[in-house]
Amino acid sequence: MTIRTFINGFPRIGENRELKKVLENYWARKIPFDEVQNTAQVLRKKHWRVQKDAGIDFISSNDFSLYDNMLDTMVMLNAIPERFAGIADKNERYFAMARGNGKAAAMEMTKWFNTNYHFIVPELSDDLVFHLDPGKILSEYREAKDMGIMTKINIIGPLTFLALSKTNTRDDPFKYLHKLMPVYKQLLEEIARLDESVYVQFDEPAFVKNPSDKLLSLIQETYGELAAVSGKIKIVVTSYFEHAAEALKLLGKTPVWGIGLDFLYGPRNVEALEYAASKHIIAGVVDGRNIWRNDLSASIELLKRINKAIPKEQIIVSTTCSLLHSPYSAQKEPESTIKKNLAFACEKVKEVSLLANLFSSDCLSETDKALIEENKRNLLSSLNPALIKKDKAAEDTEAKSGKKARSGTYSERSALQRERLNLPLLPTTTIGSFPQTSELRKARNDYRKGAISGDGYESEIKKYIDNCVAFQEQVGLDVLVHGEPERNDMVEYFGELLEGFHFTKNGWVQSYGSRCVKPPVIFSDISRPEPMTVKWISYAQSKTKKPMKGMLTGPVTILNWSFVRNDIPRSEVALQIARALSDEITDLQKAGINIIQVDEAAFREGYPLRKEKTSEYEQWALEAFKLAVSAADISTQIHTHMCYSEFNDIIKTIEAMDADVITIETARSGNKLLKVFKETSYQNEIGPGVYDIHSPRIPSTAEFREQISARLEVLDKKNMWVNPDCGLKTRNWEEVKPALKNMVEAALAVREEISRAAIS
Ligand code: GLN
Ligand code: ZN
Repeated sequence: MTIRTFINGFPRIGENRELKKVLENYWARKIPFDEVQNTAQVLRKKHWRVQKDAGIDFISSNDFSLYDNMLDTMVMLNAIPERFAGIADKNERYFAMARGNGKAAAMEMTKWFNTNYHFIVPELSDDLVFHLDPGKILSEYREAKDMGIMTKINIIGPLTFLALSKTNTRDDPFKYLHKLMPVYKQLLEEIARLDESVYVQFDEPAFVKNPSDKLLSLIQETYGELAAVSGKIKIVVTSYFEHAAEALKLLGKTPVWGIGLDFLYGPRNVEALEYAASKHIIAGVVDGRNIWRNDLSASIELLKRINKAIPKEQIIVSTTCSLLHSPYSAQKEPESTIKKNLAFACEKVKEVSLLANLFSSDCLSETDKALIEENKRNLLSSLNPALIKKDKAAEDTEAKSGKKARSGTYSERSALQRERLNLPLLPTTTIGSFPQTSELRKARNDYRKGAISGDGYESEIKKYIDNCVAFQEQVGLDVLVHGEPERNDMVEYFGELLEGFHFTKNGWVQSYGSRCVKPPVIFSDISRPEPMTVKWISYAQSKTKKPMKGMLTGPVTILNWSFVRNDIPRSEVALQIARALSDEITDLQKAGINIIQVDEAAFREGYPLRKEKTSEYEQWALEAFKLAVSAADISTQIHTHMCYSEFNDIIKTIEAMDADVITIETARSGNKLLKVFKETSYQNEIGPGVYDIHSPRIPSTAEFREQISARLEVLDKKNMWVNPDCGLKTRNWEEVKPALKNMVEAALAVREEISRAAIS
């Protein structure tokens, strides 16, 4: 029997990020839209060909997008917010929704579940009139058909579309379901006209996130109705990133043809399969969001377990999710110890095909067995023991101190720190980075290429630090930073100096629109061969009498923004990074640094999708953070920074992290989000952002005063700092200079007001 194969979706940015380049040229008005369309077509055809050549049976159309699939769905439904309705040109309107234009603000963007991909959030309101625009969907199907490829059509399911939407009334977005359904049905009617039989994949990842009773109550009717539109259409409902057991039970009772499930990130799906015994099961067994080669024998075992509930002819081998979340191809990566462990999208497609072949035969041939053996030898778990050195600095550290957290309660620490640092009321500081100038970028590139010497590069960086420190002194900030001129990225910088990291040449993954990131790869045990930041921080400290804040990226953030090895638990990797950071803190202290910030920008996004897994994550993430700062003396002030503002559900964990000072983002949202700190009587110091660094606007001193006074309505003046929302690296000096000057002036003024009030 031949087992069929299925790919949820393919990366669209292109092997050499062609889509990025053409889009950015179009936005800069350097090329006409036709060129964008040509490139897009070339990419689609190439990607279909790759999958066809690998022998994939179910290849997607409409997985492509010029910006985002949720945005495409809005266009398909005509869910165009009022402020864009007047833009006559369709392409202009599309990109205005995504990026804003002179008049209308861009739509909000947020992370797609627990990935680093961002989608555009639909805005729904009563006055929207939904009607169908099937153009893109039909034409992509025909385009593939012209190549002889019959695609399945990817569509965001109506329930997920609504679950991810916001409404202007804050009402439940599901109230619009009855308005959407006629449009979805009409779409299926159009699709049914395309061919004798067409497969449609409805993506419903909303099913994995502790689905509400409301959402669950809508599944049977919705998919019952959609499946009834035409006998020519076979519907597959897919979910990913976690199990969808609750929804699976309900979908089993509808007439849908197939159900797509992620069996790696949602192993509980296996247990619920009996409820869908009559369905085709799209078995996600090849990890669509990591970069490691598949463990063939483990996957075959998993398929066999699925086969206990589902007849073999109903099982279709698949990726766990769209390959949008993995880079294009590992083939052209330079030789390295781990090259043979890597599998990006092109390789994953082949793995799906190979697995289907292996699973097809009831008993494996000798060649198959040899292949599986070879696969075993090439897995990271086989390779790693050989890579790991015996006397790791990491183990030494823990053995030496055995400390898992720092000493002293907050009040003990705070008393000593206040005495030592002698800071004024409402101390002013910044989050770390200052503008990354073109000279800096050039110096870094030249140094990498060998065009300037190490000394030349070092003097460039020192020059920047000199100016940066002088500026901060001049405006009168209280706690200074060195400005991070030596870092292009807060994770990559540390990854390059730590052992156990690998950097791919072309491992780009789409983050949003034309933006891509190239996450570092953690492939082996992590250790710190030598200090990473001490040279720069102590140089900066030597230039001022004011306290210089050391700047580190936290263990959880380094982990969450990397591709992580899969041969040991993530929690263990986090602890390894933490040990390395703890050693760095020891060295910074020895160099006379009294304040150290450990950034945890990605702490929040690491939270699991399922509530039942939250406490496990919180436990090890917290453990890692505490271990990282365990080396800090009682009198060393530890700051942490998180660039977001929703703390309601994680406040207990933030409290347990017990940083002496936490700086957060509140410039846009005001006091609303701070209240949670008050309600839980959070004791430690807080720096609520008063300068929105995402905007080029320069707030006046009066505005800053208002911001500061407003924060004081909620926070205790003795525990409050004044600082921007986040790092300043994306701003330019012309904005930063006046803005910080005004911020400090405002802090001084409020400080005076307070002391006058105290006297009178
Ligand atoms: N210290 C970092 C900076 O200022 C923090 C960045 C972040 O939180 N994303 O750039
Ligand atoms: Zn930040």
